[in-house]
Amino acid sequence: MAAYIEPAPIKDVKNPFESMMSRFSVAAQILGLEEEIYNVLKSPTKQVSVHLPVTMDDGSLKVFEGHRVVHSSILGPSKGGVRFDPGVNIDEVKALAAWMTWKCAVVDIPYGGAKGGVKCNPREMSSGEVERLVRAYTAAMLDVFGPDRDIPAPDMGTGPREMAWMMDQYSRAQGMTVNAVVTGKPLVLGGSLGRVAATGRGVMVSALAAMEKLNMVPTKATCVVQGFGNVGANAALLLSERGVTVKGISDISGTYWNDNGIDILDAIKYKDSNSQSLEGYSNAEYSPDRDLLVADVDVLVPAAKEDVITIDNADKIKAKLIVEGANGPTSADADAKIHEKGITVVPDILANAGGVSVSYFEWVQNRLGYKWSAERVQRRSDRIMKEAFDRVYHKSIEHKASLRIAAYIVAIKKVADTFRLRGSF
Ligand code: NAD
Repeated sequence: MAAYIEPAPIKDVKNPFESMMSRFSVAAQILGLEEEIYNVLKSPTKQVSVHLPVTMDDGSLKVFEGHRVVHSSILGPSKGGVRFDPGVNIDEVKALAAWMTWKCAVVDIPYGGAKGGVKCNPREMSSGEVERLVRAYTAAMLDVFGPDRDIPAPDMGTGPREMAWMMDQYSRAQGMTVNAVVTGKPLVLGGSLGRVAATGRGVMVSALAAMEKLNMVPTKATCVVQGFGNVGANAALLLSERGVTVKGISDISGTYWNDNGIDILDAIKYKDSNSQSLEGYSNAEYSPDRDLLVADVDVLVPAAKEDVITIDNADKIKAKLIVEGANGPTSADADAKIHEKGITVVPDILANAGGVSVSYFEWVQNRLGYKWSAERVQRRSDRIMKEAFDRVYHKSIEHKASLRIAAYIVAIKKVADTFRLRGSF
C-alpha cells in the first residue's frame, strides 16, 4: 500500500528548490508514490563542487567556485546547461538539475537531468578570461562529463562560444574529437539546424495545442509576450505567423503595444540591428511601465525570467491561457489562485522543452555523424511537443489535476517505473 505523502510546506517561495519540491510532492501524493522511491527521486545522484584557480589578464590569480549536479541518470545520460552568473549557488543548481530530469521525462527523451554553474560575472571578464575559466571547469569535470554520462549545454551567461571551448577541452583530454559531449555548439562544430528557434517553436506548438482544447481559434485570439529574447521573440513570431494577434511585447527597456497586432518580424529586425534591445522601437506604442502580465488578452506568454506571476498579481491576470516560455515564471504560492480562477497554464517543464528536444537531436546527429535538414528537425520536434502535450493533457483529465501537476505526474511516473525496473543494490 502506497504511503501518503504530505506536500512540502513552502518556507521560501523564492527558493527554486522548495518551489520545485512543493509541486513534486503534490504529484507524488496523487501518484501514490512509495516513500522509498520519493526519497530516491528527491535527492540528486551526484554533486561535484570545485574551486578553479584562473589567471586573469592582469596576471593575478583568482579562484572561482563551480558546481555540477547530476540529479538523475535513471533514463539515460544526464543533460543540462552550465550557468555563468554571480548568483550561482548550490541550492539553485540542485533545483535546476531536478527540473531537467522532469523536463526530459515529460517529452520522453532518453536523458536524465543535470545542471552546472560557476559563480562569476562573465560580463566583466575578457574573452580570454572566460575561455580559461571554461577550460578549467571542463578539466575539473572530466570524470563527470561524457557523451554517454553527462552532457552540458548553454544556460545564462554561456552560449555556442563557450560550448566550443568545452567540447575542445574535453576532446583534447580524450585524444579525439568528441562533439557529442556538449550541445548548443556552433553549426560548424556539429550544432543542429533549428536549435536557435527551438524553444520558441515548442512554446508555439504547445500554445496552439492548448488553444485547441479551449476552443480558441488562433486567428481570433490575442496574446502578449513578456521578454523578447531567444524564447519570447521566436514564440511571438511563430504565433503571429499562425494568425494570433500579438498585441504587446516587452523587454527590459519597457513594453510595446499595438491593438491591431505588432509586426513581429519588423520588431525582430529592429532588435537585431539594435544590440538585441527593443529600446527606441517606434512602430508600436511605447510605455516604460505598462504591465503586460495583466493585459486583457486571451494568451499570456511569460518568456523573460522566474517568479513574475506571484500571489500578489495572480488575481489581476485576465488571460485564459498562460504558456510558460520562461523557467519558473509562476511562483509556487500562486498556483492555487490561478487554478481557482480557471486559468489554464501550460507549465514550463512542458512548454519550453522544445530546446532540450532539439539538443537531443543535436546529440543524435553527432553520434550518427550526419546532419539533418531544418525541416526534419522541426517536424520531429513538433511531434515530440504535440505528443508530450497530449500525454500531459490526458493525465490532467484522469487525475482532475492542473497541467502542471499532470506534467510532474507523467515525469515522476516514468522515472519511478524505470528505476523499479532497473533495480538497486
Ligand atoms: P534572453 O536573455 O535571450 O532573453 C530574455 C529577455 O527577457 C530579454 O529580452 C530581456 O530584455 C527580457 N527581460 C528581462 N527582464 C525583463 C523584465 N523584467 N520584463 C520584461 N522583459 C524582461 O533569454 P532566453 O534564452 O529567451 O530565456 C528566457 C527564459 O526562458 C529564461 O527563463 C530561460 O531560463 C528560459 N528558457 C530558455 C531556453 C532557451 O533555449 N533559450 C530554454 C528553456 C527555457
